[in-house]
Amino acid sequence: MRHAPRAPKITAVLQQRTLKSISRAVGVGLHSGQRVELTLRPAPVDTGIVFRRVDLPEPVDIRMTAEAVTDTRLASTISTGGAKVQTVEHIMSACAGLGIDNLIIDITADEVPILDGSASSFVFLLQSAGIELQKAARKFIRVTRQVEVREGEGANEKWARLAPYHGYKLAFEIDFDHRVVNSTGQRVEFDLGSGSYSRDIARARTFGFTKEVEYMRSKGLALGGGLDNAIVMDDTKVLNAGGLRYDDEFVKHKILDAMGDLYIVGHPLLAAYTAFRSGHALNNKLLRELLLHEDAWEIVTFDDARQAPAGFAEIARAW
Ligand SMILES: [Zn+2]
Repeated sequence: MRHAPRAPKITAVLQQRTLKSISRAVGVGLHSGQRVELTLRPAPVDTGIVFRRVDLPEPVDIRMTAEAVTDTRLASTISTGGAKVQTVEHIMSACAGLGIDNLIIDITADEVPILDGSASSFVFLLQSAGIELQKAARKFIRVTRQVEVREGEGANEKWARLAPYHGYKLAFEIDFDHRVVNSTGQRVEFDLGSGSYSRDIARARTFGFTKEVEYMRSKGLALGGGLDNAIVMDDTKVLNAGGLRYDDEFVKHKILDAMGDLYIVGHPLLAAYTAFRSGHALNNKLLRELLLHEDAWEIVTFDDARQAPAGFAEIARAW
């Protein structure tokens, strides 16, 4: 039997995405050490990403917006009224990397489970639920002029910047004076148009030092942290039996975090992000600085998905 060649695709709008089905995970919070369940649910067009605290007497919805971020000391925490969810950055990073617009995340405690300390478990959860295209145009925040935030001077200097770019790329530089980190790449660039989020970024784990962990535990923090969900180093070496997942896993995790922190703005960015020693606090400050200047951004959609920058039109492949 012979098959006729496939007809060329008709012009199609670049659509919003949600999940095809429900997906569940159970784990512990990095800081609280508490057991927590997540249920990821499909959501209607223009919902955005919403956490729903289902453990409270009345469920409370917390929507992703730059203003919802209320604490950035150890992780990005969002809150509304008295309800909060801590450590949202890794699951938000996975949503950004896979291009999920609309999602309801039922959560049974105030902290997202750390799972393996990277975003790869969230990528797996989202992909196993399947990705559904929806009948509405995907909205992007296109940066139209450069915006920058800075803090500190000399050895404490840090900055982050967004500049116009037809696509989405991130360049990050860290400056850790530690034997292990020094011997790895401290600067990395990732472009969604040419790289693969799942393969190149999602597997990078959070990292910590034994001294720090001991101090944090004494303060009742990092109670769920350990070799299963972080790269842990003493003064001279990585203690995890398997070593590193990427040669430059440390700085790649900073890209992973930045993608999560920036996606809290509610839409994918069309921009080039560049940062030096930035973190959750400065990333959020950058979003607020951007939103403050109405001449620095605009909302755009693509009526013809082929006009969208590389990396946005196709569904991300698994690994
Ligand atoms: Zn992180």
